[in-house]
Amino acid sequence: MTTLIKNARLFTRKGLVPGDVCLTPQGLAAPAAADATIDVAGAILAPGLVDVHIHGSFDVDCLDGGDSVATMAAGLPRFGVTGFLPSLAAAPLPTMTAAMVAACEYMSAPNPMAAKVYGVHLEGPFFNPARAGAQPHEALRLPNLADYQAIVGEHEKHVKKISLSCELPGGIDFARELAARGVAVSLAHTEATAEQAHEIFGAGVRHFTHCFNAAGAMFNRAPGPAIAALNDARITLEMICDNVHLHRDLMKVMLCCAADRIVGITDAMMAAGTGREGEFMLAGQKVYVKDGAARLDSESLAGSVATLDFVTQNLMKLGLSQYDALACTASRPRTTHGLPGGFVEPGAPADVVLFDDDLRVLATYIDGREVYKS
Ligand SMILES: [Zn+2]
Repeated sequence: MTTLIKNARLFTRKGLVPGDVCLTPQGLAAPAAADATIDVAGAILAPGLVDVHIHGSFDVDCLDGGDSVATMAAGLPRFGVTGFLPSLAAAPLPTMTAAMVAACEYMSAPNPMAAKVYGVHLEGPFFNPARAGAQPHEALRLPNLADYQAIVGEHEKHVKKISLSCELPGGIDFARELAARGVAVSLAHTEATAEQAHEIFGAGVRHFTHCFNAAGAMFNRAPGPAIAALNDARITLEMICDNVHLHRDLMKVMLCCAADRIVGITDAMMAAGTGREGEFMLAGQKVYVKDGAARLDSESLAGSVATLDFVTQNLMKLGLSQYDALACTASRPRTTHGLPGGFVEPGAPADVVLFDDDLRVLATYIDGREVYKS
């Protein structure tokens, strides 16, 4: 089945450009006669959104293994998401190993109508207890390859990203080793000073996990790791753009300094996509969701209930153009994490989304097939 999309504004390397494109199971192609033709009357056609940091949605957490990744993959296209990295929070090693195996089992036989799983993001357990955030203290460990190997087993090729407190003893060597193996290493839950952060970035770390959240504080003569990251043009900055995790002024400063390095994420936990508030779980801990915020008993924020279409719309409300907002959630997550696609052009995967002018999702396509329509 091929579909000719006519009269779209295509998300290209040169901006939003009026044009037509053909969706085929093999990928995007130049306009040509097709099985079906749809005139989208000026709607935006962009690569599908990709969430590189998401723990759960729809009442499931990928750390729980079982069918959780399948449930997330099946539900996410309604939010314009065509790919994601299920993110495993810190937990006892056997729990993380079982979740890793479950995610890889799903990847070996994925649902063709669901969002694609490009690999796993390990958000833990190698974190500094001083910046644990909602990560359970008892599960945290010093960086070491033996524990990493115990978690990933024979599935290392499916680890796409690891979040790590690189300032811990052995952290820089561990980061360097994983970067050499092709894993995107991201400074996270960190007490590093700005000076340490610069050293860490010099060792091949190219990402900063949920910038400014669970990171050392900022003072005038000790600006901390997030400011160091903001000042380093090599570093991609994850931003939880949910209006809960970051003050609006800080989000605007981040966009002023580094709009071309921001990757919008949800960091969503299991309540996302349910429309409900009340009691949920995250990494084996009780979480209470109220007024759009998820918190532990300690009041620490525990993931978000945001969806990636909301994050994208919010980036636009903070002052970005439609194109620049989509770059943060549709294009850059792919180009900075070695994932396929990033632009609407021949040869790219036909994982695309139609958006209206407010970046609301009109339809989602996976491998050229419509999997969601609003
Ligand atoms: Zn997270």
